[in-house]
Formats: sequence, C-alpha cells, structure tokens
Amino acid sequence: MSAIVLDGTDPDAVARAARAIVDGAALVAIPTETVYGLAANALDERAVAQVFAAKGRPQDNPLIVHVPDWAHALPLWAKDDAVAIERARALAHAFWPGPLTIVCWKSLAVPDVVCAGLPKVAVRAPRHPVLDLLFARLDVPIAAPSANASGRPSPTCAADVVATLGEHIELVLDGGPCAHGIESSVVDVTGEHPVLLRPGAVEVAALRAVVPDLVVRAPGTAAHGDEASPGLRHRHYAPALARVRLAGAAELGAAWPGAATLLVREGTARALRARHGTRAAPLHTLDDEPAGFARGLYGALYRIERERPAELVIEEPPTDEAWLAVCDRLLRATS
Ligand code: AMP
Ligand code: MG
Repeated sequence: MSAIVLDGTDPDAVARAARAIVDGAALVAIPTETVYGLAANALDERAVAQVFAAKGRPQDNPLIVHVPDWAHALPLWAKDDAVAIERARALAHAFWPGPLTIVCWKSLAVPDVVCAGLPKVAVRAPRHPVLDLLFARLDVPIAAPSANASGRPSPTCAADVVATLGEHIELVLDGGPCAHGIESSVVDVTGEHPVLLRPGAVEVAALRAVVPDLVVRAPGTAAHGDEASPGLRHRHYAPALARVRLAGAAELGAAWPGAATLLVREGTARALRARHGTRAAPLHTLDDEPAGFARGLYGALYRIERERPAELVIEEPPTDEAWLAVCDRLLRATS
C-alpha cells in the first residue's frame, strides 16, 4: 500500500478526507501552516490509537488537538482555573488562527489517550485554506501529530509525507509547501507563570508582547526527563543518516575541502567559497534569516537523505533568541 495524494483544494477530495476522519476508517495526512499532520477524530480513542501505531509514536507523547477557532477550543478545557483560561484567551486572541499551541487543564470531553494520560491538553487553531474547507465539513476536533514516522523530520510537503509514512496511511491532502515549515510554539498557561514548552513558529519576542512573564528555557536543557512536555524526551527530527553533526565556523572551514555533504546558510557558503574556492562534494544552502532557514530545513533534510551521504555536516545556528526553534530542532536531530 502507498498513500494516494489528493489535491486539497478539490472539494470532493476534502469531502472524502472528512468522511475518513469522522468514520475513523482510514488515516489521512493534512497540510497546516507549520508542517503536515496525521489526522484523527480527537474524540475517537480507537482512531487516535491508530495514529500512534502508524507513527510508531511512544504512548507517553501527547497529541495536539486542532480546532477551527476559540469557541471550539473552550469545551476541550476545564474552566476551574480562571487565570489559566484568561491567559489562554489572550494568547489565542493574539495568535489564532496561527502556529501557537496552548496547553491548559483538560475537560472530560478529551479522551486520556490524546493527552498520554496527562491532566492537560494542547490545543491550537491552524491557519490553512485546506483546513478551512475541512473544518467546514467536520464537527469534531482533530488530533494531529506531525505526519512523520516517530523520530524523523516533520514533512513540509505532500511528497515528504509519502516518503516517511506512505506505507502506513491511505490519503494525503496536498496543500502545497508549508508556510512556516517548523512546528508550532507550545505554551503551558497553567502554572504561576506561562512556560514555553517548545519553541516554534511564533517568535519568543512576539509571545512576550502578550505574556511578558513567559518562562523560556535555554535550548537543549529540556531535552531529557522533562515531565511537563513529554515529547521533548525523545530523539526527534533526525534524518536517516549514519553520521550527522553540527559544526561552528572553524570546523566548517576544515570540512569544506572534504567529502562530507554540507548544509549551511547562503551567506556562509559565499564566505567559505570566497576563502577556500568551490567545493567538489555536495553543498546545500538555506536562507540566512531564521524564518526562511526554518521553512527550508526539513525539506532539505529529506532531499539530502535521498543522496545517501556518508556524513552530513550542518552549520551551527546563531545563539540569539530568534533562532531558538531552529536551535532546538538541530540539537535534537544531531544528539
Ligand atoms: P508533535 O505533534 O509531534 O508536533 O508533538 C506535539 C508536542 O506538543 C508533544 O511532543 C509535546 O511536547 C507537546 N504537547 C502536546 N500535548 C501536550 C500536553 N498535554 N502537555 C504538554 N505538552 C504537550
Ligand atoms: Mg512531531
């Protein structure tokens, strides 16, 4: 079996995907503005279990629930913690529809399997024209992790969904390349201060404008044994290559004449070429700015994988906060 790719702007294709999700009869991958997701009716425990099985996802890694808007998010959360709900409301008002996931106390409507047994549920309203069409045909929330086999890079186009999960799912709704190409930012609003559980497509500076007391951890420090965001425990985003490593400026200079495949920023490639001449081994480049770099990163990893290099050397990202999400993904892809 290999998944069928359908045009997500075709109303018949969307109707077919909506039926499959409601019936829980077949697994469907959907586009979002962050990365492609593997969709299940969030209220159907059996369908959600199938998503975990298809991805080979550890049972302790909860899923994000996708809804069309704030009104559809509210029933998924318990209302007792008024401070938390007000924070959630402010964040949703500022960033929805968009790439921000909000973690708050779950209501009884949400099955435990979605939250991996945790007392909280992660919810977001995505911004994508294909999902607008899909939500118009669905009256259930969609539980959707990224549409990759567990541990692999998230797919940012329909072809990469097929490359990583094609044998395990039936349908891919093609919505074109993802606008952000990196996962949503995840904020837990339940504590004394809101906590950034996972850096993502919404920049930290933009989040702080709404929740100034946001707690942000240094990249890599939450990678293991973090109970608050179980997904961070697991190796993730890694291309299927024997040797992948990060390299700073000096190491890149040393690697330039060698046989390893390089993945660096465009400006860095220009500087290295000016200094050391052209290189014979494969060179892949990404945008100099963090948003453009993030947009291209996972697609580049899938492309490079297909070339089967003996070694991939990736440029170490800058340490400033605008690069936090990229930094987090690269550290976890190479650890
Ligand atoms: P993915 O769907 O692969 O993008 O991963 C979703 C991530 O969101 C998980 O790995 C967690 O880090 C985070 N997350 C989802 N649900 C919860 C939750 N209930 N509590 C804390 N973090 C969550
Ligand atoms: Mg994922």
